[in-house]
Amino acid sequence: MQTKRVVLSFPPHLIDQSVTYRLIKDFDLMVNILRARITPKEQGRLVIEITGKKAAMDAGINYLREVGVSIDSLAQDIKWHEDRCIHCTACISFCPTKALDVERKTMEVSFKRDKCIACELCISVCPYQAMEILFD
Ligand code: SF4
Ligand code: SF4
Repeated sequence: MQTKRVVLSFPPHLIDQSVTYRLIKDFDLMVNILRARITPKEQGRLVIEITGKKAAMDAGINYLREVGVSIDSLAQDIKWHEDRCIHCTACISFCPTKALDVERKTMEVSFKRDKCIACELCISVCPYQAMEILFD
């Protein structure tokens, strides 16, 4: 079993089709929708977590590509502007996955992209606009 977090971008003609349902039903994958932004007749974007066996995961991702869904890694949607961060730690207690964490000895904040689920909680908390979400 493996788990992947990806960003799916749907062209307008696919928005009404249940491609995520097919991932569950036809490919035996578990799909957890983490974030969704869908505008009727425009592009839709979903951040999802997919869990399943590797072969099923590969087949499901191939299916998505074949029907015209573009797939990006989640990390591409979140940016930590390290140069703006003053390590104030205001964001740390809000981050649910410890993607933003602090080294207690040095009090240095770090950002681990692979843990980030793009929940946006840090965006409004950071007084220095060091966290940016590129998901629109
Ligand atoms: S978007 Fe959410 S998970 Fe990602 S760093 Fe910010 S608070 Fe943490
Ligand atoms: S709230 Fe902003 S400035 Fe403060 S530690 Fe977090 S990212 Fe850095």
